[in-house]
Formats: sequence, C-alpha cells, structure tokens
Amino acid sequence: MHIDFLNVGQGDCTLVTPPSGDLLLIDCADSTVAVAHLQRIRQATRRTLGTVIVSHSDLDHCGGVIAVLEDTLRHRALPVTVYADIDRHKNIPKTWRNLIAFLERNYPAKLRVRTVSETPAVVCEDSSATPAWSVKIVHPDHVQRLSLASQERLAPNPLSYVVEVTLGSTSVLVAGDAHAKALIDASTGPVSVLRAPHHGAHLSGLSDMYNALEPSAAVVSVGTNNRHEHPHADHIMAARAAGCAIACTQLTPRCCLSPLDVRAEFLPRYKRYDVLQTRHARRNNREVPCAGTVFVTLRANGCEIEPDPLAHKMWVESMLGDRALCVRPQASQGPPKSPPPIVPPEPEPVLPGLDYGATSDESGTTRSASI
Ligand SMILES: [Zn+2]
Ligand SMILES: [Zn+2]
Repeated sequence: MHIDFLNVGQGDCTLVTPPSGDLLLIDCADSTVAVAHLQRIRQATRRTLGTVIVSHSDLDHCGGVIAVLEDTLRHRALPVTVYADIDRHKNIPKTWRNLIAFLERNYPAKLRVRTVSETPAVVCEDSSATPAWSVKIVHPDHVQRLSLASQERLAPNPLSYVVEVTLGSTSVLVAGDAHAKALIDASTGPVSVLRAPHHGAHLSGLSDMYNALEPSAAVVSVGTNNRHEHPHADHIMAARAAGCAIACTQLTPRCCLSPLDVRAEFLPRYKRYDVLQTRHARRNNREVPCAGTVFVTLRANGCEIEPDPLAHKMWVESMLGDRALCVRPQASQGPPKSPPPIVPPEPEPVLPGLDYGATSDESGTTRSASI
C-alpha cells in the first residue's frame, strides 16, 4: 500500500494506492502535478482514480479537483466517488461553488457524491485481506460539524476531513487543516506517519497532539513562498520534542532566508522524479523543493519513507548548516527566543567564581533558535 504526498507547493495533494482496487486522491491544490502522476501510474498499472476526498473548501485543497476529475473521466468508464461537504452554504469561495456545480452537472452518471454524517466513515477497505487494510474519514461527524459550525461561524479549517489509512497495525493520518485537538479525538491510536495539520501552522495543543499520536515522521506540505509563515517554528519543535522526524515538501524562508539562492543545488536531487517536477519546470517558478514529493510504503508492521527522514535531515544539514527548523538546535524550553538586545560594551565588574564559559552556550542556543 502506498501513500504519495505530492509536492504541490502551498497546499495539499495525497494519492493513496491500496493493495487492490482503484486509486484514491485526498485534496488537490495543483492538477498539473496530480494529472502527471496519475498518468504515470495508469500507464504502469492500468489503475485509475476511483475516489476523491475533498477535505474542505479552501483553494489550497480543492483548487485542482475539477481538472483531475475531468482527466480521470476521460480515461475511465465507471463513475468516480467524491466525498465533499457540499452542505455548507455560507461564505462559499468561488472555486468551491464551481466544484459543486461541476459535481451536480455530472451526478449521477459520472460522479457519485457522498457527504459524511457519522465517523468513522469507511471509504474503502478489505477486512478479509492479509493484512487487512482500510481508508476511513475519522473527523468530523455530523454532531461535531454542527457544534464546530456554530462556534467557528463555518470557518472551513476546523471542519476539515481527517483521513486515516491503515494496513495491518500501521496507520497514516492525513490531517487536512484540522485542529490539533480534533486529531487527538479522531485517532484510534499511535500513527506511523502524520501529514502535519494545516501545513505546519502554529496551533494550540501541538505538544499534546504529537505526544498522543507518536508519529515517527511528519510530512509538512508547504510552499516556498507562502504568505502564512508556514511552517511555524513552534510546530516543528513540538514534533521534534516528541521524537518525530520532519519532511517538508518545499524549502521556506523559515529555514533559509533566501531559498532561491540555493535552488540550483536543491533541484537536481529530484531528477529521478522528473514527471513530478512539472511544477518546478514552469517558467518563472520561484519554488524550491526540500524533501519534494514524499513516498510512503505501508507494511503490516511499519513503513518505509522516501526520502528517508534521517538521510534527508543529514542532507539538509550539509546544505544549510543548522539554520533549518528540522536540524536547528532546540531551545531548552518554551518558544524560540528573540535575539538578545545589542548593548554597547561596557566594562563590568568581574565577580569572583563566575563561569563566563557558560554564557557562550546560552547565547549559541538563543542565536540558533531565533533565526
Ligand atoms: Zn484550509
Ligand atoms: Zn490548507
């Protein structure tokens, strides 16, 4: 069973290849990348997309869904099932309105549309296979949706679908833009890999979430030039404090002040996935892949991740030193500190017995945590 976290810039696109049956896509921010990847798999395996889950109405999750569905319907006679919360009727962005109109136009001959009223909602599974596998939507159910909608005035992120993919005892959680507490409530136990919620944003309860889910790796689907300052240092540090390795799809100014300066060194590393580099081949592209597309292979009792998180971390360190969030020395406590104020040197009385060597350690920690 495979899960590919596609490098689509600021947004999400996750392709699940189950042991049998049709492919399943969760969100699509960039149809060019997704269509190229689906074409490659179709040519190699003759398998096509049977299900699309659209986690919520934000553009960075649903912007490429129509184009992917159009492409799929050209290559497939059977209908495609689409999970989308089309009941929401306030503050609807134009892209979401267009998607609903597209679903209505093609329903029911080419598309089957599903909304989730109770969780966990089984999207597909084979409980008789060895090992058994399943794909489930685990958040939110109807009651949560009503209560969240009243609290959040129908803000889309807290209502984001959360998808759990399981093979044997191995689970991967695709968190969409849901809140940290929702993930704790939704998960049935520790997970091997977490698609980090909301592109590595600062969220309350992150430490509790990482300690509860115990992921060995977190994939942060993030764009070099995002305006939201993703990923946030607090998020990455909470993950690292819980022993979780980090793989960001793209390099951001949070790790390298000017990513474009190192683009020439980062790009060749991804050549073997050139079909996925459609995005980076575009003219005037100012994005820099870091881990790029992250490929996860699920086994009954664990998973393999490519690029390997440890090797990736060492490579990032070799390229950027300790500036990157995934290798930066962790502050001993609390969020990253501000740089110490610059004060003019003044002769100070030296107290007997004071160890000035200790201050260099402290200033080193402060300097590296605040870049
Ligand atoms: Zn969102
Ligand atoms: Zn998002």
